[in-house]
Amino acid sequence: MDIIKAIASDINNSKHVVAFTGAGISAESGIPTYRGEGGLWGKYDPNIYANIDSFLQDPSYYWNFFREIRYPMLKKVKPNKAHLALAEIEKAENLKTVITQNIDGLHQEAGSSSVIELHGTTRIIYCMNCSQEYSMDEVFPMLETQLPPLCSKCKGRLRPDVIFFGESLKSQILLSAFKEADNCDFLLAVGSSLVVHPAADIPLRAKQRGATLAIINKDRTPLDSSADYVINDEAGKLLPQIVQNL
Ligand code: NAD
Repeated sequence: MDIIKAIASDINNSKHVVAFTGAGISAESGIPTYRGEGGLWGKYDPNIYANIDSFLQDPSYYWNFFREIRYPMLKKVKPNKAHLALAEIEKAENLKTVITQNIDGLHQEAGSSSVIELHGTTRIIYCMNCSQEYSMDEVFPMLETQLPPLCSKCKGRLRPDVIFFGESLKSQILLSAFKEADNCDFLLAVGSSLVVHPAADIPLRAKQRGATLAIINKDRTPLDSSADYVINDEAGKLLPQIVQNL
């Protein structure tokens, strides 16, 4: 049987499907991945732009990156066929949750209602002193006159609600993702190099607890040999085909 038909049939026959996504699912929306062809880390050193120590020492690198690259990109991008396909599978009721490593909010924009954001979101910014939250649209204009931007309530420093390198994931969020891994009977990993831990432990954990594991990723991953299905191709091409075969 064709591998797409086999995956669709397994999804149909599963009670609790979980999708696990990474930067690759947003690549076709125009957001560069970190690794792989055209990766962001070739241009921006993560030790300066995405590291907590560097952010605390000199937040201007992050905020300049946010002003010049991240914000304009997020204002422009739209969910692609792969995000929309996962929202469609959720409507069919057997996809329960999307666990994502992405910080771009595109799953929610595509219509997925249950999304666990392991690494947080760039769309929310909060005060490190009083926890007051701001949208990115509120903070962007502040950057014209204030770098780093400060809380309008208490003048505390603001930070994005993302997990920087050097920080631990929020334990409640990680626990809820592990619970999904434990409860699912089919895990569909899409667009992740599966090398960033502990996030990448989730697909393996699901497999070890008896779930069927399918990996859709352009490049090979370290979990390919453990998976039931592997397709090395573009998510925006394959996921709509899976939906058509449900
Ligand atoms: P990664 O950059 O390590 O790997 C991305 C993978 O996607 C690569 O293996 C590549 O082969 C694959 N890929 C590229 N285009 C694809 C496509 N069209 N279809 C299918 N696969 C495709 O990403 P990761 O595994 O998510 O881990 C890196 C970290 O980067 C994560 O922590 C994530 O938070 C962060 N990140 C997020 C975004 C975002 O929010 N969109 C963007 C870049 C990085």
